[in-house]
Amino acid sequence: MSINKHNIDTDGRLVVLGGGESGAGAAVLGKEKGMDVFLSDMGTIPSKYKELLDRHGISYEECGHSEEKILSADVVVKSPGIPPYAPMVEKIVAKGIPVLSEIEFAAGFTDAKMVCITGSNGKTTTTLLTYHILSKAGLDVGLAGNVGKSLALQVATDPHEIYVIELSSFQLENMYRFKANIAVIMNITPDHLDRYDHKMENYVAAKFRILQNQTKDDYFVYWQDDPVIREQIAHVQSEALMLPFGIDKEENTAAFVEDGIIHFAVPGDVWEIPRDRLSLPGLHNLYNSMAAGISASVLNIKKEHIRSALEDFEAVEHRLEYVATVDGVRYVNDSKATNVNSTWYALESMTTPTVLILGGKDKGNDYSEIEELVSRKVKAIVCMGLHNEKLMEFFSGKVEQIADTDSLEGALEACRKFAKEGDTVLLSPCCASFDLFKSYEDRGDRFKAAVRAMQQTI
Ligand code: ADP
Repeated sequence: MSINKHNIDTDGRLVVLGGGESGAGAAVLGKEKGMDVFLSDMGTIPSKYKELLDRHGISYEECGHSEEKILSADVVVKSPGIPPYAPMVEKIVAKGIPVLSEIEFAAGFTDAKMVCITGSNGKTTTTLLTYHILSKAGLDVGLAGNVGKSLALQVATDPHEIYVIELSSFQLENMYRFKANIAVIMNITPDHLDRYDHKMENYVAAKFRILQNQTKDDYFVYWQDDPVIREQIAHVQSEALMLPFGIDKEENTAAFVEDGIIHFAVPGDVWEIPRDRLSLPGLHNLYNSMAAGISASVLNIKKEHIRSALEDFEAVEHRLEYVATVDGVRYVNDSKATNVNSTWYALESMTTPTVLILGGKDKGNDYSEIEELVSRKVKAIVCMGLHNEKLMEFFSGKVEQIADTDSLEGALEACRKFAKEGDTVLLSPCCASFDLFKSYEDRGDRFKAAVRAMQQTI
């Protein structure tokens, strides 16, 4: 019997649930390590993953689960999209078979350094920015988790010395022995509460799993002004070196702003950069840049490299992405804003009167969080969704104009009516996209295409 550092018997049987990026990667890694591998998906498996599985001689099934093939597993790797209360998962757990996330599984087969980023908002931006700094500095670094290729596939076929990993709370749920050398929590605000029994404490606990197993040689980077993080820190025992960031300098603050200059003060490495040199605009991106800068500092990257990477990083698609100016009106795609907090930051960064497109699948939103910013910056709201009642009720009377639409075309027509030269039309919907669109990317892509089409017809 051969056991890896995460206690996985590589002579055993691995069953993977879910044939997406993470599942297919885990299956390939298991096979490479000599395990008996089977992959099962309730839906259809995209053809590129089927080809990958075929290439590695891995057996799989789609459109259903064969119970006996699954319950004979020694270990199961579950895609983060499958909830713990899915009937098949409950049966696996009842049988006492360990259920791991793909990251937990993959990390058992590598000694690479792990820089892990979680939070309710800003994960992808901070992950890509950190990756940009490290790769620009010439480190052998891989990008994994919610963005990039699966960690498991890289460990199997293209290993790196360091990984920058975006971790959602869903991924963190099934992690036990994994250790982050640098753990980053950007912020914690209510999101996905439907998956957490509508209990904020369960969601917070999942996020804080990023700190488990850290030792005194590891680092914990976090936003010092987040009330939820502050409260939770009081209850956790962590030996890791705390490196908080925020606008104001407090006792241990590792990045703060004074007179327009961002000061980085990681022990042994003190440097600064003018705030207006950052390539990404807005307060939220100041925080994202601070988190990425601290992580890079900890990894001893030269400050010249960090500075130039923070200056030339290009904005990430669907996050406050400028699309076009039509009739003097700027159109901005922030389709990735799928919760109220991210829309708060989008509005915070607006410098012109704004026509705001809201709507989609409401995950139990409390819109009072953006009420004050809406009253200051938003001249009109356009609701775009199949169920706009809650939005219409909340915002009616709070903005000069409001429209109730149920399609992208209808929403843009209303925007053109409301917006005047010098205004901004901002798609930052506070909601998931699933009522009218396939995904937030689909929503953003279609928004951009429609705006560009408008541009061509005038
Ligand atoms: P995530 O991967 O956590 O969803 P993204 O980097 O994709 O985060 O950004 C999603 C949206 O959240 C952006 O469109 C922006 O409006 C907002 N946002 C980005 N960074 C932050 C932050 N640090 N705090 C709050 N909101 C943010």
